[in-house]
Amino acid sequence: MICDGKATRNIRRFWCKDIGALIVDGVRIPIVRTCGPLGGMRNWWLCPQCGRRCELLYGETYICRICAKGRYRSELASPRERKLLKAFKIRERLGQTSGGIIAPFPAKPKYMHWNTYLRTRAEAEQNELRILQDELADLKRTSKVRR
Ligand SMILES: [Zn+2]
Repeated sequence: MICDGKATRNIRRFWCKDIGALIVDGVRIPIVRTCGPLGGMRNWWLCPQCGRRCELLYGETYICRICAKGRYRSELASPRERKLLKAFKIRERLGQTSGGIIAPFPAKPKYMHWNTYLRTRAEAEQNELRILQDELADLKRTSKVRR
């Protein structure tokens, strides 16, 4: 099961102050509270199957992602696809809408500090260099096989 956006119950959508459990569709789900680092309290479901603390529950039986054997879409991507997704994500954050990693690197957005932009750019260029090196290595390997 791919879990991205498929949670059945999110604890943040329930108002649960000082109660030990909620009954959702006839299933009793225990709740615990923890203190946040900057104050405030946070509620968590306790998975009815394994007792793991979690924010999201899945399926009709309301179990955690681990018990539901759920995976995130990025976990199913190959290492190369993950590198590409990372590159697209960085460029998208800088305002690029099309062109992939072949397009010129986007300029610094107005709202962003120069240090942040330069650090992000250096990281992106390292990542994109690795992608292109992998592609080149693949091309060399396949051209040797064909000869
Ligand atoms: Zn569980």
